[in-house]
Amino acid sequence: MPELNESNLLIVDDDPMNREILYRHLKKLGYPNITLAQSGKIGLEIVASHPVDLILLDMMMPVMNGLDVLTYLKENHEWRVIPVIIISALDEKKMMLTCIQKGAEDYLTKPYDRVLLNARVSACLEKKTLHDREVLNNQKLEAAYKELAVAYHELEVVKNELESLSHQDGLTGIANRRYFDTVLEREWNAAHREKKCLSLILFDIDYFKKYNDTYGHLAGDDCLCQVASAALKVIKRPRDTLARYGGEEFAVILPDTDALGAEFCAEQIRYAIENLNISHNSSQINPYVTASLGTSTIRPHMQISTSQQLIKEADLALYQSKREGRNMVKAWSING
Ligand code: GH3
Ligand code: MG
Ligand code: MG
Repeated sequence: MPELNESNLLIVDDDPMNREILYRHLKKLGYPNITLAQSGKIGLEIVASHPVDLILLDMMMPVMNGLDVLTYLKENHEWRVIPVIIISALDEKKMMLTCIQKGAEDYLTKPYDRVLLNARVSACLEKKTLHDREVLNNQKLEAAYKELAVAYHELEVVKNELESLSHQDGLTGIANRRYFDTVLEREWNAAHREKKCLSLILFDIDYFKKYNDTYGHLAGDDCLCQVASAALKVIKRPRDTLARYGGEEFAVILPDTDALGAEFCAEQIRYAIENLNISHNSSQINPYVTASLGTSTIRPHMQISTSQQLIKEADLALYQSKREGRNMVKAWSING
């Protein structure tokens, strides 16, 4: 009992007797899946609708001869990989050569040598199996690459989310102190390079300790969030950065903004906080929550200075606001 080979064979021959002999011979060899076609056209229809691993093709057939069928097969991207063995009564070298050049695996003449045919069939099928396996492996590899690309993309998204979370203040959602330091350094360098001025606003909620003592720490947290949102609404330019600088202290980096611009922006923030109308009965200056603000401006390309100097000057201006009565804006000046 021969070992069964699951490959699909197709015999194309217009002569019923030839078809039958070849069919029986291949069955005996252990190929159970054999389809028969009595013309080139039917052969091609079978190829188009069923998987075929090897074609045994007669040469002399009416309408569409073996060479026509072979040409058609080899010009089709999908079908060109199917091996074709020509079995022909035509023992002519030129035709043999043409068929081989067109891509036939072999050209056997009738009456064919059975041993030679057996060897050819099994060699062709082995080659086809190897080819199919390679195609499958490539498909698997491609699918794996696609999955990997999707995974990389997802990783990148998570990485970006994590990075943006690491820039955020946990309570208010605005930039945290670490990110403030990064942005200030970046904007300092940009201002130097672009020969532009750079402004900073520092502001601090007035009598906030008393607020916490009166209304509780949770209400204090809520107040900080409201103040952050109010200030955020004032900041319009995309490069402006509002950050939580410390407990109840905030900072705004204003690139390409002069002293007047910074003061204007600070006054708007002051006004917006006051207009939140958050009750603060223990404040010594106002029945509502207020803040004191200080601004400073520097032209990094025109003076020998550092970003720390900018912070120091804004801080000095802020404490001048506190000293002079709170709920106001002070701009740093050398005489301040
Ligand atoms: P001044 O007008 O001079 O700024 O007085 P102040 O009471 O606002 O300033 P002080 O520095 O004495 O107190 C700041 C308070 O801010 C103390 C602290 O409990 C409170 N604080 C800091 N961070 C937070 C926070 O995250 N949540 C709450 N609820 N309170 C905070
Ligand atoms: Mg305060
Ligand atoms: Mg403070």
